[in-house]
Order: sequence, then structure tokens, then C-alpha cells
Amino acid sequence: MQTIAEKLRLNRQCIGVVMTMGALHEGHLSLVKLAQQTAGTVILTIFVNPSQFGLNEDLHQYPRPFEQDTALAKAAGVDFLFAPEAESIYPENYQTTVECSAVARGFEGERRPGHFKGVATIVTKLFNITKPHIAVFGEKDAQQLAVIRRLVEDLNMHINIIEAPIVREKNGLAVSSRNIYLSTQERDGAAILYKGIRHAEKRVAEQGHNLQEIAEEIEKMINATPGCRSDYVGFVDEATFEPVETAEAGIEYRLLLAMYSGTVRLIDNGKIRA
Ligand code: AMP
Repeated sequence: MQTIAEKLRLNRQCIGVVMTMGALHEGHLSLVKLAQQTAGTVILTIFVNPSQFGLNEDLHQYPRPFEQDTALAKAAGVDFLFAPEAESIYPENYQTTVECSAVARGFEGERRPGHFKGVATIVTKLFNITKPHIAVFGEKDAQQLAVIRRLVEDLNMHINIIEAPIVREKNGLAVSSRNIYLSTQERDGAAILYKGIRHAEKRVAEQGHNLQEIAEEIEKMINATPGCRSDYVGFVDEATFEPVETAEAGIEYRLLLAMYSGTVRLIDNGKIRA
């Protein structure tokens, strides 16, 4: 892959990369489309990265429909599909990690210790392997995007990070590889996350400046939905991911939500302008 990428660069090709863990869906394909609008050559990576999963998480159950993914990638017009085995990415005696501090600390970082270290490390490695000029990441994983932006700036990586809007199902539920774990009924229930975002937009637009109070209202809405249990709901500063309790007019915040539908953990987020 590195040799191919180097040749593409020597031929003055603009390389775009989209990194995924596979089980491709509309969300991933929207990232590919965005990459194709900016870059002449698009590399799609599929790698279920063991180092970003916690001990009690779903690494071994994570869906891996590789043939279906290959067909979808081909149909989407992807130029190269890079899907390495874990052993070649983390060979025996592997020792180096990349870690981001403050922005990776709260929310997902707190609930999933080591997760963002795993993400920052694999993203760095895949950047070095695919040598992209641009990389597209989804707003769906907003904190991950903030971590990657820091990583690229702090380590002087010469890569343009493009963010793609969240693709949602008809009922508002963000499309996710993990949605296959949900029954039809659970999918309907899980749409409460999107209803929570809409509730926040409305409350903040009506001059609701007490963000803490609005977050608590949303937690109640989630917990009142059968089969759903809130994990966290909170507003943060868009760049630093520091919690914010009181809104200032004219500023855009990000509302972060995580909940369980049965045993399946789901995350979502939305930009909220005060
Ligand atoms: P994953 O395979 O879940 O690691 O996701 C790979 C990339 O696709 C990440 O940049 C995600 O943020 C992005 N992504 C996942 N779901 C969606 C979605 N519903 N809409 C937009 N982007 C998404």
C-alpha cells in the first residue's frame, strides 16, 4: 500500500482516505462520496482495530461481512481497498502508541479507557501507510474527530481533515454498524437520541441558557423510553470538548449523548447554537 501511495504521489495524484471498521453502510459511503469530490484517488481502509476496544467490548462479535463490503466498495467506485490483518499491523514486539491528552479525557475517553489511544495510534499508522492529502471522518464520532484534528495539528501531519455530516435513518437514528444488533422495536426506541437533540435545539432557541438543566431533561426522556438507559448527556465546547453548563448567545456548542438500548451502546451528537 505504501509503495502504491508513493507512486500515486509521484504521479501528482491527490489521495483521499476514508478509514472504517467495515460492515459498510450509508454513513461510510457518504464519506467516500465526499472524498471523491476532493481527491482523484480514494483509498478505503477496513480494519477492526483491536487496540481501540476495551476488554468487555464487542471486538469478537463486531460484524465482518467482508465480501459484501468489497462489493459495496467496488460499486462506490473506491480506487483501493486496504484491509490488513491485525498481525501485520501489530506484529510481535510492537511497542509504540500515540496519545492525545485533554480532548480525549472526558465522555467516550472516560467511559472507554484506552479507546482514543487506540484510535490515535491506528489513524497515525494508516496515515503513514496511505499517505493521503485529505482524510474524511464522520461527525457521528465527534470526539474522535476532535482528537484527530489535534493529532494532525500537534504532530505536523500535512493532511486536510474533512468532516462529513451524520447520515440518519428515517426515524432519526444515526446509521451505525452496531444497529444490526437492534430489533425493529429497539431501533424505534433508540430514535430517542435524535429526539433529545431536537429537544435541545428547541430549548436553546427559546433562550434556555442552563445547558445542565437541558441535559438533565434529555436524560429523563431517554430513561423514560422502554429498553433505553442514558449513559451520559452533556454540552461541550466544540474545539476542546470541555463541559459547558451555561450557554452564551451566538456560540455553537456540541451536545453529546450516549445510551444503552438493552446491552448495545449507542452514541450520537448535534451542534447546538445559542
Ligand atoms: P466506523 O466504521 O464506525 O469506525 O466509522 C468509520 C467512519 O465512518 C468514521 O469516520 C465515522 O464517524 C463515520 N460514520 C459512521 N457512521 C456514520 C454516520 N451515520 N454518518 C456519517 N458518518 C458516519
